[in-house]
Amino acid sequence: MKTIGVLTSGGDAPGMNAAIRAVVRTACENGIKVYGINRGYAGLIEDDLRELNIRSVSDIIHRGGTMLYTARCKEFREESGMQKAIATCKKYGIEGLVVIGGDGSFRGARDLSLRGIPCIGIPGTIDNDIASSDYTIGYDTCLNTIMQMVDRVRDTVESHSRCVVVEVMGNRCGDLTLNSGIAVGATAIVIPEIRDDIEKHVIDRIKRTQKTDKKHFIIMVAEGIGGVEELARKIEKNCGVETRAVILGHVQRGGSPTVRDRVAASQMGYKAVQLLMEGVGNRVVVQKDDHIVDYDIYEALNMERKVNNELYKIAHEISI
Ligand code: ATP
Repeated sequence: MKTIGVLTSGGDAPGMNAAIRAVVRTACENGIKVYGINRGYAGLIEDDLRELNIRSVSDIIHRGGTMLYTARCKEFREESGMQKAIATCKKYGIEGLVVIGGDGSFRGARDLSLRGIPCIGIPGTIDNDIASSDYTIGYDTCLNTIMQMVDRVRDTVESHSRCVVVEVMGNRCGDLTLNSGIAVGATAIVIPEIRDDIEKHVIDRIKRTQKTDKKHFIIMVAEGIGGVEELARKIEKNCGVETRAVILGHVQRGGSPTVRDRVAASQMGYKAVQLLMEGVGNRVVVQKDDHIVDYDIYEALNMERKVNNELYKIAHEISI
C-alpha cells in the first residue's frame, strides 16, 4: 500500500487529533503517502483533501476538535455519492482509508470496503456508544469535563440548599451520565437503558435522602430522556426544595484531551495503519479488556451494547 487517506466523521471528539497524528506519523515512517480529507465523507465526495506529512500534524495532540473538520453527509449514503467518493480515491491513488468516527461512519466505511476501498474504523465519539469497543476516543475527556462543570454547580447548589437536574449528553447510551453521576455523588441517575417510572424513582430518592438531613441534591439525567425542566418543576412541587435545570450542552464536546484519550488514540491510529499495511480492510480497531484488537466491521456493527448494571447498583447504594 503506497497511499492512504484519513478522515474524521460524525460528531467531533477530543482525541481525534491525536488519532490523526498517529495515522500520519505511522504512515510516513513506513514510506506511505497520506491524504487528510476535510469534513468526513463530504470532503471525499467534493475532492477536498491535502497531502499531510510528519510536520503537518505537529502541535495538535493537545487540541480538542479535529484539524480535518467533520461533517454529516447525506449524499454519501446514496450510491451516486459513494461512487463520487470512490472516484476521488482513484484520482489520488488512495488504496486504503482510516475513518475516525462512530457507528454511522463505520457503516460508510463498510460500504466503501465492499466497493473495493479497504477501510479501517477507529471509534471516536464522546458517548462511548460503540458496542464493539469498551472505550471510545473522547469519552474520558468528556467525563472529566462533565465532572468539573457539575463540581462548580455543586458549590452554588450547596450554598443555597437547592436541587439541580443536570442534562448530560448521550441519546441512547447512559455511560456518560452513569459514570459522571458516580463521580459527582449524584443522588439519582437517570439513563436511557433503565427507564422505569423516572419521576417516582427520582422523587423517592430525594425524599429518602432528605430524611438523612441532606439539603442539596444533584440529579443526573441523560439527554435521551429529555424533560429536565419538567422534572425540576415536579421535584420542587413534591419535595419542597428549590430546583433548577442545567443543560450542559456543547461545552461537553470540547477541551484538551486527557492522557487516556491521547494514548488510546495513538494506539488505535498506529494499529489502523499496521492493518492497512498488511493489506487488511473492513476492520475496526477497538479496545477490549485493555487490549487494542480489531474486528470485522460487519461483526462489530452487529454487537449489542450492555449497560453496566453493577455500576448502576453501586451508584444507588452509595449516593444517599
Ligand atoms: P456520532 O455517533 O459521534 O455522531 P457517527 O459516525 O455515528 O458519530 P453519523 O452521523 O451517524 O455519526 O454518521 C456519520 C456519517 O457516516 C453520515 O453523515 C454518513 O455520511 C455516513 N453514514 C452513516 N450511516 C451510514 C450508512 N448506513 N451507510 C453509509 N454511510 C453512512
